[in-house]
Amino acid sequence: MTPSILWFRRDLRLGDHPALLAAAEAGPVLPLFVLDDALLGPSGDARTAFLVRSLRALDADLRRHGPGLVLRRGRPEEVVPAMVRAAGAGAVHVSADFGPYGARRDAAVEDALGDLDGPVPLVRTGSPYAVAPGRITTGSGGPYKVFTPFHKAWTKHGWREPADSDPAAVDWVGAPPGHPSEDLPDEPDLGDVELPEAGEAAALARWEDFRGTAYDDVRDRPDLDATSRLSTYLRWGAIHPRTVLAGLDARNPHDATFRKELAWREFYAHVLHHWPESAREYFRPELKELPYVTGRAQRTRIDAWAEGRTGFPIVDAGMRQLLAEGWMHNRVRMIVASFLVKDLQVEWQHGAEHFMAHLVDGDLASNQHNWQWVAGCGTDAAPYFRIFNPITQGEKFDPSGDYIRRWVPELAELAGKDVHQPWRAGPPEGYPAPMVDHGEARKDALAAYQLLRRHG
Ligand code: FAD
Repeated sequence: MTPSILWFRRDLRLGDHPALLAAAEAGPVLPLFVLDDALLGPSGDARTAFLVRSLRALDADLRRHGPGLVLRRGRPEEVVPAMVRAAGAGAVHVSADFGPYGARRDAAVEDALGDLDGPVPLVRTGSPYAVAPGRITTGSGGPYKVFTPFHKAWTKHGWREPADSDPAAVDWVGAPPGHPSEDLPDEPDLGDVELPEAGEAAALARWEDFRGTAYDDVRDRPDLDATSRLSTYLRWGAIHPRTVLAGLDARNPHDATFRKELAWREFYAHVLHHWPESAREYFRPELKELPYVTGRAQRTRIDAWAEGRTGFPIVDAGMRQLLAEGWMHNRVRMIVASFLVKDLQVEWQHGAEHFMAHLVDGDLASNQHNWQWVAGCGTDAAPYFRIFNPITQGEKFDPSGDYIRRWVPELAELAGKDVHQPWRAGPPEGYPAPMVDHGEARKDALAAYQLLRRHG
């Protein structure tokens, strides 16, 4: 029988996999992953290492049922058609990719498959989202720009039940002669960086562990392990959001809040799909004209922020958590992003770039649009004049200071509230004084904003 190719990308799992179901319906399935330098290059070390581990886990899962994952390195528009020819495949099945690069890449692969002697289709079934970007439109048929009505429409639209893909029922085939599977690349040296366990089984176990917690009461507390930490698994498709949604009860307030957080991920994918240029450009260009720092001053500020030596404990704790775990708590992501843009007057793209270089869950849509939200220039962004106070935010969301003490050991001995304002007790040795006066920085940012509004 003619085999099909199942080309894995951001869907590194075998359960709840609509494209796998579609491929298996047509006959034998050859599981392929293409190591594409265009993606591996810009991906930071943590994300690359996690990808390598996820591929290893997927290969092990596949080997329970067949010859395992076929890995080939190169440009997808060359590798995929070559594999089709060698295997005599009748179709290439994928989960649709809605990112700017993925959409371009898939169009190029589709063209190349169409040019073969006896063209072969690229069949898109499912996506990394509960509702595919582009499907939900306003009453007049346009895209939503504001989350709340999007969320309402998304909830009303609903989503399918998880797909019943069963890897044991698939006739898996291996690499064709002359096109052997290549070795996994070496993992980058991560030093002491600790990543979560990769793979579908680990994702499902984390989800089972997390289900039923009092999420809504504690989700803003970085000192507690109170959020799902599913972002990394969702990033690589080790779990599908529909699997998660199917396990929620919207009448339960914790589940309802959690579902809304998943909707933000869907919303930003939708926004990036409709406005791909918003990955780099201001969604609201007016704010581009604010007086941001440049040159050496900019570099010095970015470096102190990135290394966690701003002298603001919650900011430094967050930035050090990012370096140590490739992950940071959402509340702290907001605080450090606000600090960089509003207190240090650095344009949001520099912060977004640093995040993408270090986050193991780094996702273009969620990252760039959360940065734009904090900077005040995104879709229904926080107003520019809402400036996070890094001291009161720390006191409110890390009340015991345990999060700070964990990540900033220089402050571990400080008792009580002093940990949020170490300068009060005389800063401990080795910990820097605050690099700006937050009150003054806030006034400057607001004055610049008012000036822009008057003359802009
Ligand atoms: P939970 O609180 O358990 O939330 C469950 C899921 O909901 C998350 O896994 C995520 O998929 C989704 N979610 C929650 N909050 C958001 C949000 N604000 N935007 C989009 N989706 C959300 N998330 C990423 O996945 N990748 C990124 O690159 C990324 N960059 C960010 C940059 C900034 C400046 C900020 C403020 C937020 C960013 N986020 C990003 C969103 C959020 O911080 C993470 O999704 C969350 O911290 C992941 O931890 P969790 O899985 O425990 O989240």
